[in-house]
Amino acid sequence: MRAHLLDWYDIHQRDLPWRHTHDPYAIWLSETMLQQTRVDTVIPYWERFLEHFPTVSALAEAEAEEVYGLWTGLGYYSRARNLLKAAGQIVADHEGKLPPDAESLRGLAGIGRYTAGAVSSIAFGQEEPLVDGNVIRVLARRFEIRADVTERSVIEHFWALAAELVRGPRPGDLNQALMELGATVCTPRSPQCSECPLKRSCQGRRAGDPEALPQKKKKARAQKVDAVAAWITRKNQALVVQRPEGGLLGGLWELPGDALGPKESHEAALVRGLAERVGLTVSHAEHVGEVEHLFTHRRLRLQVYRCPEVQGRVRLEGFMAHRWLSGQKIAALPQGGPTRKALSLLGVTSHSSPRQRMRETSEASSLK
Ligand code: SF4
Repeated sequence: MRAHLLDWYDIHQRDLPWRHTHDPYAIWLSETMLQQTRVDTVIPYWERFLEHFPTVSALAEAEAEEVYGLWTGLGYYSRARNLLKAAGQIVADHEGKLPPDAESLRGLAGIGRYTAGAVSSIAFGQEEPLVDGNVIRVLARRFEIRADVTERSVIEHFWALAAELVRGPRPGDLNQALMELGATVCTPRSPQCSECPLKRSCQGRRAGDPEALPQKKKKARAQKVDAVAAWITRKNQALVVQRPEGGLLGGLWELPGDALGPKESHEAALVRGLAERVGLTVSHAEHVGEVEHLFTHRRLRLQVYRCPEVQGRVRLEGFMAHRWLSGQKIAALPQGGPTRKALSLLGVTSHSSPRQRMRETSEASSLK
């Protein structure tokens, strides 16, 4: 199985920029960016990031906002926060060089079992396994493992299998071959078994239903959250607030607002939320529209309002900082997906994706 995978990988691997480097820092960066994010999205971010911060030391000295700025659009900002923290740890404890062994790597912020295995095997040639969704799919099909892959004990079984497989020459390539096969041939739908180097030995294929593997319990539905956000303007500047560090979207900037309370209307939540969270009284608001954003376990529906008339001085509750800025400057701040979509809805220049789901309305309401 090793030989078949490596031979196939030598011919069919995709030409990806991080496959041309042996720099452990660049490989660590690629593995971090690739978590939850597509390869073609990552490439320009990875290149830009390395241009700005070519070494671990350069990253360790960076301002958090500069790092978040380069991360804007990639999502899951905790990854950027951990990169920065881990860079500081590497400089302080490892003389600015990533340690080669998986155990030491796991002592760094944000580096879990998968990333430690990837960096250790790909950058340092260590016989360390890794398991991700692609590896699970390939192994579940190849060995026809029908157990529920959401169970911890089943995941441990995949780690044990991967650990056996990685032993031998070229461990980094072996790990990459498994992931590459899962990403390009042994895909979730319609695996191309006729093109697969494991086709002769694959038990899932022989059983006739490889698509049914791996097996997972049905996921709980994402919790729905309704919230409001306000574009509050004074003298051609708008108000933005910074979320506290840690937690969802920690340290990022957003438009002030709040989640709806039980049975609360959008307008009531807007008036209450702005009074409680930023100390402002809103007397007139215009509903601009709605944006939706899906987090891992939450579906956020955000109603966006323009509020040209507010009274009071800003007094923050649950935010770290506030700024009054032009739209252009706001668009350049580190921000999460919902804010990016809200800004795009408001016509404020940002890096919004064309695939955003938006429903615009032009309902206006007086809150006096
Ligand atoms: S033969 Fe088909 S099911 Fe089996 S590993 Fe290859 S692509 Fe996946």
